[in-house]
Amino acid sequence: MLFLFILISVTQIISAQQLRVGVLTEYDIQRILFSYNEGSYLIYADTFEFGAILPNEFVDISITSGDKIQLKKGVEILGEFEKINLVETIPSSSIALTSKSPVVKERKYQDDFEITLSAKGLIIVNLVDMNNYLAGVVESEGGGGKELEYYKVQAIMCRTYVLKNLSRHKDLGYGVCDRVHCQAYHSMLKYTPKIMDAVKATESLVLIDDKTNSKGELAGTYFHANCGGQTSNAADVWNTNLPYLNTFKDTFCIYTKQATWEKRISQQKWADFLVSRYNYPLYDSVFGPMIFTFNQPERIAFYQSPALGVPLRDLRTEFQLKSTFFSCYPEGLDVVVRGKGVGHGVGLCQEGAMKMAKYGFSFQQISLYYFPGLKLVSYKDFLFFNQKIVSETEF
Ligand SMILES: [Zn+2]
Ligand SMILES: [Zn+2]
Repeated sequence: MLFLFILISVTQIISAQQLRVGVLTEYDIQRILFSYNEGSYLIYADTFEFGAILPNEFVDISITSGDKIQLKKGVEILGEFEKINLVETIPSSSIALTSKSPVVKERKYQDDFEITLSAKGLIIVNLVDMNNYLAGVVESEGGGGKELEYYKVQAIMCRTYVLKNLSRHKDLGYGVCDRVHCQAYHSMLKYTPKIMDAVKATESLVLIDDKTNSKGELAGTYFHANCGGQTSNAADVWNTNLPYLNTFKDTFCIYTKQATWEKRISQQKWADFLVSRYNYPLYDSVFGPMIFTFNQPERIAFYQSPALGVPLRDLRTEFQLKSTFFSCYPEGLDVVVRGKGVGHGVGLCQEGAMKMAKYGFSFQQISLYYFPGLKLVSYKDFLFFNQKIVSETEF
């Protein structure tokens, strides 16, 4: 009996997986229009229903001086409320959002919306079906024109991430935001139908780490554009030590377009930064003459020597370098910085994974190449065997 109950409750969690995703979260929205795109929506405000949004119609939502939300249908004022809901009456309907204050380009999203008020502006939450969300995220993060197996890998990583972070922005009334802070979600899936094929083909699959914690937990599925031929230790980037995020040599990405880069920085700025911030020993007989000369054939964490305490990640941030995997030398009045790869280098290397998919590797092989030691399992099975996680991830 208990077995049956658990099975039913787990199945319900999976099939009714609707996420709360904050959209337009980088803006303090004061006024926004929702206009008809596809399907059918009903308008609710607090306890009232105001009918459907018909083709060529829009609702105009703004903040009044009395700290309420004003709802207009076209130019007709319907009243002032605490909460507005736009609820689809046909599955996978979609609606267009155009922020008027501040002005933001139109975006389209599927499924339902909830609009409430915070001290800064309107909080716009997309209550979206898991698959529709993942398809939008994979397209926003990875773009079009890639192999199906690559999209499957990206779908698994994005699914694992969102399930691990269902309460990340709980204070604001949603789980994940639409920025790179969580996962970029700039629109519903628009141009690449095979992304939805990849999402459905990997339905429910997630990456689990059962080494760090014997009960198993959803893995940290980090990714970056190009590792430059060697991935980074997570410990060197974020001070978190996880065995599946250790450095290794990646030969799949080294001949791609973002594999190498060069940047010139004035010697004055380079030296000022090192001396003022880290007290770089300019007059030391060993390190002084080396201030502009650095060779990094394999990834390390510090400039010149750990003893000097200059993390490469700080140089990357200060001089907006594409990665920390660089060497440099002086030329004229500049330091010439020659680097490999783009991004933090932890976890999956997107260009390497794309190349593997082109060579015919499966999504399982690619996932476990970049995240060695993890397990690829159905989230349903994982929840069933690990009830602790259910309570943690419920929002
Ligand atoms: Zn976020
Ligand atoms: Zn790589």
